[in-house]
Amino acid sequence: MSRSEELFSQAQHYIPGGVNSPVRAFRSVGGTPIFFEKAQGAYVWDADGKRYVDYVQSWGPMVLGHAHPEVINAVIETAKFGLSFGAPTERETTLAEKLCSLIPNMDMVRFVSSGTEATMSAIRLARAFTKRDKIVKFEGCYHGHSDSLLIKAGSGALTLGVPSSPGVPAVLAEHTITLDYNNIQQVRNYFSNHGNEIACIIVEPVVGNMNCVPPIPGFLECLREVCDQSGALLIFDEVMTGFRVGHKGAQAHYNIKADIITLGKVIGGGMPVGAFGGRRDVMQMIAPSGPVYQAGTLSGNPVAMAAGLKTLELLEQSDFYKNLSARTTQLVEGLQKLADEAGIPFTTNHVGSMFGFFFTSEKKITNFKQVMACDIPLFNKFFHGLLKRGVYLAPASYEAGFMSGAHTDEDIQNTLQAAKEVFAELIAG
Ligand code: PMP
Repeated sequence: MSRSEELFSQAQHYIPGGVNSPVRAFRSVGGTPIFFEKAQGAYVWDADGKRYVDYVQSWGPMVLGHAHPEVINAVIETAKFGLSFGAPTERETTLAEKLCSLIPNMDMVRFVSSGTEATMSAIRLARAFTKRDKIVKFEGCYHGHSDSLLIKAGSGALTLGVPSSPGVPAVLAEHTITLDYNNIQQVRNYFSNHGNEIACIIVEPVVGNMNCVPPIPGFLECLREVCDQSGALLIFDEVMTGFRVGHKGAQAHYNIKADIITLGKVIGGGMPVGAFGGRRDVMQMIAPSGPVYQAGTLSGNPVAMAAGLKTLELLEQSDFYKNLSARTTQLVEGLQKLADEAGIPFTTNHVGSMFGFFFTSEKKITNFKQVMACDIPLFNKFFHGLLKRGVYLAPASYEAGFMSGAHTDEDIQNTLQAAKEVFAELIAG
């Protein structure tokens, strides 16, 4: 029995499903989750001491790679002065100022402790600002697990939403409309009939929660246009894309202006941080400057702020994003070539350092239905084949992959060699 198997069996006695976040449990790919013991740069080590090249990077935050010495040092030095004060600190303003200077259309920002809190608060703010209750989201986008956002599409694309989880009240679900990502005509039709009832559209500008699916040309532009026409606010959920698709996030990458932007992951450098920010007139509605209540005991936590600040500082190295993007292209193009040579139906998507690959004969994947129609058993075999060879991918076919600044040419070559062997195994059956 491996140490991970032993630990997983113990964990299941005390923690539901043995994990503190469901996708970690390997339910989708099968087998036992790997328990990690340490991480450094591009690598993680499991409880048996086996090393893996990591393309999960804690689901996105570790854009510099794990345990960057300068980030670790900033955390240690800050921790020496106390872990939490529940009172303002200078560091919060420094990080807020930095985010406002880097992220377009962000005049003010409020820190929280997770992406879920950021999106939940952004929705409340949009509802208060517009004095409307209904919100529009897209199937396949994930915005955390607050009640209003844990809603899937009803039976027809334009019906009211239904809860994705027991415990979410149906009356709340009625206020969440779920449309198809990248379906421009459907958005236009919906808004021409119901636009004046909608408080906001919330969207992952590049979806990283149905594998990796970028917007088709015109989709984000259409969202901006219908929001302008209807008075709804446009929320870009950049919890994943922020400091991932580029230094200024998806707004800059696609040249689209959002009214509210949510952030998380990278801005905490691996510590629990989220944030939402945007137009000054909107943000000033937040308590205590305005009436919209939002709070957090650990919000703006000094250690988390220090990790975020140091991370953002290190991202300013020249060509960081250019190199990161080039590495990502090298990996996905390498995989595509190997799959083609092996005769395996396969396609890829990537933007900046986010990437995804799909076992499918479709040439391009642009929506949720296509993602769900991919060959999931084949992905699962690929996942386990790579895992055995020391390459750690996200343990589900509907998750994006992430490159870090610590991945070297050699790491990518080793990954491609492992993939070549696994593709050959898949062909042999
Ligand atoms: N929004 C997006 C786009 C996300 O990817 C996630 C988490 N993966 C969240 C929100 C929720 O963030 P958290 O898990 O920190 O609550």
